[in-house]
Amino acid sequence: MKKLLLLVGARPNFIKIAPLYRALKERGAGLTLVHTGQHYDKAMSEVFFNELDIPAPDANLGIGPGTRIEQTRKIVAGLRPLLETGEHEAIVVVGDVTSTAAGTMAAIACGVPAMHVEAGLRSFNWRMPEELNRMIADHHSDHLFVSDKDGLKNLKNEGIPDERMHFVGNIMIDSLRSIEPAADASNVLTRLGLESKKYGLMTLHRPENVDRPEVFVPLIAALRKVSEKLTLVFPVHPRTRGKIESVEGGLGDGIKLIDPVGYTEMVALIKNAACALTDSGGLQEETTALGVPCLTLRTETERPCTVTEGTSEIVGTDAEKIMEALDRVLRGEWKKGRLPELWDGKTAGRIADIIIKL
Ligand code: UDP
Repeated sequence: MKKLLLLVGARPNFIKIAPLYRALKERGAGLTLVHTGQHYDKAMSEVFFNELDIPAPDANLGIGPGTRIEQTRKIVAGLRPLLETGEHEAIVVVGDVTSTAAGTMAAIACGVPAMHVEAGLRSFNWRMPEELNRMIADHHSDHLFVSDKDGLKNLKNEGIPDERMHFVGNIMIDSLRSIEPAADASNVLTRLGLESKKYGLMTLHRPENVDRPEVFVPLIAALRKVSEKLTLVFPVHPRTRGKIESVEGGLGDGIKLIDPVGYTEMVALIKNAACALTDSGGLQEETTALGVPCLTLRTETERPCTVTEGTSEIVGTDAEKIMEALDRVLRGEWKKGRLPELWDGKTAGRIADIIIKL
């Protein structure tokens, strides 16, 4: 029987680990689930364990907030005693958060093989903490599970040998598809007073947008302008909330600020939106999977297939460009897009089959 340590730390990790946990369990693997505690409050963590039916973690490292360096140090120190028992044949990490990179650093230090799910994504923007996390995780991992063909090319260009790469598709779509029936039954639209296809869904949390007032303040002004044409609902990330309060003029009446929602309600909100306006990586993928127009409020993406094949467009943060894109959405002129290869909801099974045979 394979014995694996599965590591999670932040909201998008929980969504990605849920189907993999189930698929590995079904194949008889022995699993230790470790939560680093990077996201720790109910709305960003506990709710996902309940909704996605993930068992309570076997261990919680309780790292809490802090700088990337502090968090990394605590994760490596917390994982060491677990990995040094020699009980685990490998550690599995997902996504691109601090916990992902730190998990693979701990693996190297303890001589335990690491496996990275969602490998190969590259924005080529080194100011993004996630880009550093992706590079660290990929180059410290023995096996790389890749979500799209661009990822394979990136890894090849970085000299990763073919036998370490596995093209398996996008595991996020597995979670999305399994929660869709519950999302369809959700009453979130009624609760928020929204009408299907009559609102836009907005999220913002990337440091490049949120931490630089010279970008954030005009971006909020642009979104206020959008909200004069289309009501916006904005489940706010905790790291963004404080910044909004300091923006003169606030959000205006057309932007409904709400607390972060669970995944069921989020999928319902995405599915029924006229469009999304976002800097989230996950949302770029989910809108492509659901055929919803996505105005990506960034200057590049590590998920280019959501643009070349899906429903996303890199719109940036300039008010004029955002308004021009919005007008195309409202006129019904947005591209329809198609699903990238292997975004079929069966990725977790493919990964688990490979891991079990290794
Ligand atoms: N999400 C959610 N509730 C929210 C906001 C986001 O369930 O209130 C989901 C979203 O659908 C996506 C994931 O959380 O699957 C994205 O997380 P985040 O934006 O934190 O990270 P990123 O996608 O940029 O890595």
